[in-house]
Order: sequence, then structure tokens, then C-alpha cells
Amino acid sequence: MAQENTDTRTNLIGLDRADLASIFKDLDEPAFRARQLWHWMYHRGETDFDKMTDLSKGLRAKLPEYFRVGRLKINKELISEDTTQKWLLGLDDGNEVEAVMIPEKDRGALCVSSQVGCALNCSFCHTGTQTWVGDLQPADIVGQVMSARDRMDEWPSGKKGRRLTNIVMMGMGEPLLNFANVAKALKIVMDSEGISISKRRITLSTSGVVPMMKRCAEELDVGLAVSLHASNDELRNELVPINKKYPLAQLLQACADYPSARNARRITMEYVMLKDVNDSLADAKELVRLMKKYEIHAKFNLIGFNPWPGSSYECSSGNAMHRFSDYLNDQGFSAPIRASRGRDIMAACGQLKSASENQKMKALKELKQQRAARA
Ligand code: SAH
Ligand code: SF4
Repeated sequence: MAQENTDTRTNLIGLDRADLASIFKDLDEPAFRARQLWHWMYHRGETDFDKMTDLSKGLRAKLPEYFRVGRLKINKELISEDTTQKWLLGLDDGNEVEAVMIPEKDRGALCVSSQVGCALNCSFCHTGTQTWVGDLQPADIVGQVMSARDRMDEWPSGKKGRRLTNIVMMGMGEPLLNFANVAKALKIVMDSEGISISKRRITLSTSGVVPMMKRCAEELDVGLAVSLHASNDELRNELVPINKKYPLAQLLQACADYPSARNARRITMEYVMLKDVNDSLADAKELVRLMKKYEIHAKFNLIGFNPWPGSSYECSSGNAMHRFSDYLNDQGFSAPIRASRGRDIMAACGQLKSASENQKMKALKELKQQRAARA
């Protein structure tokens, strides 16, 4: 835990147009004020009411009495040799989440967290080893995007040469177990008069919360990535335990029903490559059989396992990964091997937060020992 924010004024970030409209109604202000404020906050990235020059002077003076345009605090920043940037961001309640910026040649994706910790305990995932602390609020989710834009000096929206062009909900947590907050946040992010990152540039990754997948399609229609990682229930139960609740047959049917499984957009099947666990040719063949059986228009992402202290898996060999990828390619599925980015800064899911917690625990232990020695 870092320091809590003691500012008790209402944070306007994370509120949608309807929320703002009702605030301005309560303030006896005309409805178009909400639109002006929206533009300042989400298009220009402005946090200072005084600089919102088309608001009346009286309103500019009144707003800061009750409201603030909040930001997440950047508690720690790490920049990898490969230019991946990772931020540990402080929430108002003192908790911390990670956001990771992965720049590519002419685009860049921000990996956004949806929860503090995760309740799902996938056996290869570091976040899964942390206890679930809570759901992020819309302000915390939109806030990750805003803090990243601040840090990279990418306001106003649409700025030329910007690097943050895409969003992947692949940080800490399971977004479909916090769907209401994630949906509200993503609608704000997608709004074309604000941050304006379109649904085609947003991908949500789920471990397979089947009942929420339909709602995700209906309400957001963002790209879907599914953390598949296994081609049979026995192994998937072990790697992704939510599979016991929603087994492969249900998950794959839900994938087949997702709109992008039927069009050129396709569904992304994430597959973490674990040495001698899920990386045989037989596994690849079974995956192809399943995609054909359920008629899923899929592309694969083969992710090299990112080891963490205490993990019991190893990353597959280069040979095994290429054999797997080549087979899928031959069968007509795109299956790039994703180079693990930012290894030197532990940019994989959940790693920075755990590292910082470990350091704190170590510091605390040392302090206790010192105190005990003194007593
Ligand atoms: N909870 C969601 C989104 C966050 S995890 C989900 O599970 O899909 C984002 C992706 O990172 C998932 O595909 C997850 O399986 C993968 N991942 C987690 N730990 C990893 C590790 N140590 N190495 C490689 N990929 C990992
Ligand atoms: Fe949670 Fe996703 Fe990690 Fe599984 S892989 S523990 S669902 S964050």
C-alpha cells in the first residue's frame, strides 16, 4: 500500500456524460457545460479548472470547491532496454496497479489493469499468486490511460505521431469479473469527442468468464482475446482453474458466438508456451481440430512463458515454439511467437507489483529485526 489520497472532493474522471449532465443540472448550469468540460478533460487532458477558458468565471471558481480532475500517481516508472515502459500507479485508496506501454514501430499498446490482484489463480501467472484485493473503479481504469498520456505528453487526443494508439485489457485482473466498471471506463475511452480510441483498437483479454462474453460483445464489441493455453479440459483445469466452472466446450461455443469469430477481425487465442506441458505437436493438432469443430475464425498468439521467482514452469524451447507455430500456420492460422517484452523490468503481468511488495516486506522485516535487536 502506498499513501492514500486525502482529497475528498469528487473526482470527475470516470464519470460518463450522463453523470456530468446530472451534476451540471444540480449546479443549475446549462447542459452544454457538461460537453465543454468533457472536451477539456478527455480531449485536452486538462486538470486545472482555471484553464478551461470557455467556462464562465463563476463556474471555474465554483467547481474546485467540490470537484477535482484526478490522476493516478506514478509511484514508480521503469523503462526497459527494448523501450517498454512500466508504471506502478497509486490509486486514491492507497492500492497500486500496473500499466505497461509496449511501443511498436508505428503504433503502441497500453496494457491496462482491471482489478487489484486476481481471484482466479492461474498456475503460471504471477498476478494469480497475489490475493484479490478489489475491483478497479472507472476512474482507476480511465486513469491509467490518462496518466500514460500525461507522461508521454500525448494530449490533445489525436496528436500527431502519438505512440499510445491501442489498448489491451491484459494487465492485472480478470476484466469480465469487473465488467460494469470496465465497460463504463471503455465507453469513456472510446468516445469520439474525448480520448477517442476506437473499439477496433481495443482488445479485452479473458480467461473465459463465459456468461459475460455475450454482454461484452453486445455492450462494447471490442476485440476479444481468450487465454486458452490448453487444448483439453484436464490440462486447462490445472492451468486456468476457472475452466472447472466453464469447461472448453462452453468456452469455445461462446467464442464461436462472439461476432468477431465470424468475420475478418477474428478472435485471438492466447497460448502461453510451457515447456513439456502444452507445447507438443499433438497439442497444436488438437487446437486446430477444435477451431474447425466450433468454426471459430481465430488467430493465435504464442506467448513465451515469462518466469517469475518461485514459478514451477519453464518457457518452451525455440524449436518447440517454432514447430508449434509452423503447424498452425500450415493449417491456415496466424500464430506469431510473441517476444516477451520488457523482461529486464519484469513487465509481465503482476510482476512489478509483486517485486515492490516483496521489497516492502523485506524492508518491514529488517525494521522489525532492528527494533527487536534494540529492545
Ligand atoms: N485475466 C485476463 C487478462 C490478464 S492476463 C486473462 O487471463 O486473460 C493477460 C495474459 O497474460 C493472459 O493471456 C495470461 O494468461 C498471460 N500471462 C499471465 N502470466 C504470464 C506469464 N508468466 N508468462 C506469459 N504470459 C502470462
Ligand atoms: Fe487472473 Fe488472468 Fe492471471 Fe489468470 S492469467 S490469474 S485470470 S490475471
